[in-house]
Amino acid sequence: MRVAKVIVDVPTNQTNHTFDYLIPEKLENLVQAGMRVTVPFGPRKVMGFVLDVVSESDYGKLKPIEDVMDITPILTGELLQLGKWVSDQTVSFYIQTFQAMLPQILKAKYKKEIEALTEEELPDALQTLFAGRAVMDYEEFVERNGDYNLLLKEVRNGHVQINYLVKSKETKKTIRFIAPNKEPYLLVEALEDIDPRAKKQRQIIEYFIGNPDPIEQKKLLAVLSTTTATINQLVEKKMLKKIDQNVYRDPYEDETFKRTTPLPLSLQQKKAIEPIWQAIEADQDQTFLLHGVTGSGKTEVYLQAIDKVLQKGKEAIVLVPEISLTPQMVNRFKGRFGSEVAVLHSALSPGEKYDEWTKIHKQEVKVVVGARSAIFAPFENIGIIIIDEEHETSYKQDEQPRYHAREVAKKRASYHHCPVILGSATPMLESYARAKKGVYHLLEMPDRMNEAAMPPVEIVDMRDELHAGNRTMFSRNLLESVQERISKNQQVVLLLNRRGHSTFVMCRDCGEVMKCPHCDIALTYHKSSHQLKCHYCDYKIPMVKQCTSCASKSIRYFGTGTQKVEEALREHIPEASIIRMDVDTTRRKGSHKKLLERFGNGEANILLGTQMIAKGLDFENVTLVGVLAVDTMLHLPDFRSSEKTFQLLTQVSGRAGRHKLPGEVIVQTYTPEHYSVQLASQYDYEQFYLQEMEMRRSFHYPPYYYLTLFTVSHPNQFKAQEVTKTISKLLYKHLSDRATILGPTPSPMVRINNRYRYQCMVKYKDEPNQREIVRKIQDHYKDEIHRNDLTIQVDFEPYSLM
Ligand code: ADP
Ligand code: ZN
Ligand code: ZN
Repeated sequence: MRVAKVIVDVPTNQTNHTFDYLIPEKLENLVQAGMRVTVPFGPRKVMGFVLDVVSESDYGKLKPIEDVMDITPILTGELLQLGKWVSDQTVSFYIQTFQAMLPQILKAKYKKEIEALTEEELPDALQTLFAGRAVMDYEEFVERNGDYNLLLKEVRNGHVQINYLVKSKETKKTIRFIAPNKEPYLLVEALEDIDPRAKKQRQIIEYFIGNPDPIEQKKLLAVLSTTTATINQLVEKKMLKKIDQNVYRDPYEDETFKRTTPLPLSLQQKKAIEPIWQAIEADQDQTFLLHGVTGSGKTEVYLQAIDKVLQKGKEAIVLVPEISLTPQMVNRFKGRFGSEVAVLHSALSPGEKYDEWTKIHKQEVKVVVGARSAIFAPFENIGIIIIDEEHETSYKQDEQPRYHAREVAKKRASYHHCPVILGSATPMLESYARAKKGVYHLLEMPDRMNEAAMPPVEIVDMRDELHAGNRTMFSRNLLESVQERISKNQQVVLLLNRRGHSTFVMCRDCGEVMKCPHCDIALTYHKSSHQLKCHYCDYKIPMVKQCTSCASKSIRYFGTGTQKVEEALREHIPEASIIRMDVDTTRRKGSHKKLLERFGNGEANILLGTQMIAKGLDFENVTLVGVLAVDTMLHLPDFRSSEKTFQLLTQVSGRAGRHKLPGEVIVQTYTPEHYSVQLASQYDYEQFYLQEMEMRRSFHYPPYYYLTLFTVSHPNQFKAQEVTKTISKLLYKHLSDRATILGPTPSPMVRINNRYRYQCMVKYKDEPNQREIVRKIQDHYKDEIHRNDLTIQVDFEPYSLM
């Protein structure tokens, strides 16, 4: 008896384990771990992943597997193990994680077809089914009782392949080639028969007499400047033939990649790469933190580390934040490693993504460059994993499974015995702390290549502007500087931090922000109750009428939209042309890129936008970057707000003046004395780290404590609050007394889509039972969760506390 242990596509706590299914005779030698199958489940037919094949079962009458969805495994043994681990860590369902590891196309419903790839005879049984066709539906194969083992054999020896089709053949792209349909000497004869006036036709035949190989139709048209109609006439006369060839869609085919060779390394690069090379040589699963300022040459270090890995015959995974996965970035890898590189990017169509994934799956490439989910690339012999801009929050998935790519990377590295490189100019505090403790190997690259200086940062005190009678959002200094650039035909980038979802309250006279005395985060103004509340611990006070520090009455709620800024800017500088980039103007696909291109082409003087522009920022002609109100970011109700501000300021500054023209940065703020603003303007990460750690230590935040955030939502406000209260009580009862439970409190965004949201938070050092308790809580509410009334989100080590 052959039994498959299957995780079925029924995402509930009760079905989050394997079910035993009998492997029917026809599939006996076929079913393997890592394949997807369809199985009966109750009255339904569902998809499932085979985790294991065994020869006995503890259960009586087993239902048989209905069919296989893959002929060969699509998840390796390592990925199956990893998927289980990720699910356990994030308390998500196994099925969710396995799905998350695969390209989207393989999650959706699709059709399969079998394609014959050989001119030779296929075995009779298959030949009969194909009945002269090159392609047949997979369904037909099943219905006509095709022989699976035979099919598998032919797939393995490359005579047939299985194609996955998603709506209108989206997974495949064909290129049309034109080839002669006769031997060259016969073409010479044929030429005689063509009317001498049909010059165009003759020209094509003459071409093929000299060049009998197939040529892409597009190229033929270009080379001979002829038309498809002319080609078609010759095809009709049977002198030429069309060949439609399947190719991988190459999303970057239009870019030309100039091949590059390794650069001679600078001294600091040498120092950084030596230990990495050693780890590669010694097959060590060591994690390195490469702390290098922007422009220090980190990418060259990555490239030469990968070089070493390829020499050993191993593979490399490179993660970059979605938003930095620009053609320039891809070029640097393709330029060095050519067609060994696959790119996984969310802007690719599902078909393109599938093609790239297939190249990895079939071991046709050695390097993958991609966003977060590329960490699951099905390589089997990984030699290095690199995570660039490791502090970026997009490495954590914000839906289940809420995994962090860094943690998955370390897990895979320990399996493959290979190093992990985390690179950043502003490492996440947790990472730097680990490096300081020796958990990670710290590598420092403090200098820019070619000794370029960082652009000077000027901090403008907006309180002074107010006192001088300037009540606008632009300081005199900034306005003058902008006007000066425009007159010189240079460009300006103005950054307005994303408006906080909540409103904090600040004194415009002295810059004082009302904060929670227990949590050190800005209090949020609640209009309905006219109160100021803390979103972590539920501390509240009535709205203040005057500043608690200087008694001024210039108390303001904060938050201005980009549109308002644009209007004001037009008023002050009517001659400026402005491109605005925010969630409103970039909603449509591709508009982000288009706006940046327009700005790059010099179609506007000013690019105004939220922090989404901070990263695409690499324009030669930009000589001034203005940050309009750093305070909106500094006072988000998030314990990481100082860190995020420091990162943002460093990032925008590092971008200005990368080219020939020197750059300048102007930062406007009501709290110029804030250490985050001060130290970012001095590019002093080390000092920032020390001060920020001090704050984290006194208020019990990471890296001194871990956090878990529970967010409960329900259409009924009272119910959401009640459940959150019960959860806090359960946590209180079951966790050790060293854990602190904060809340319940309303979430900063208290109502989304007509659902009310409440949260509570656990601060802890070590709570080994925590995940078990979470499962129990979910179990307790399973009926309401199932009806979709209630959701309980649990986020371990959350990045966003909204
Ligand atoms: P980072 O990734 O740290 O921001 P980059 O890798 O972009 O830095 O390097 C900054 C610039 O220096 C790039 O133009 C790069 O081509 C160049 N560069 C890097 N390493 C070298 C080297 N060893 N020799 C010459 N130029 C280099
Ligand atoms: Zn004040
Ligand atoms: Zn508080």
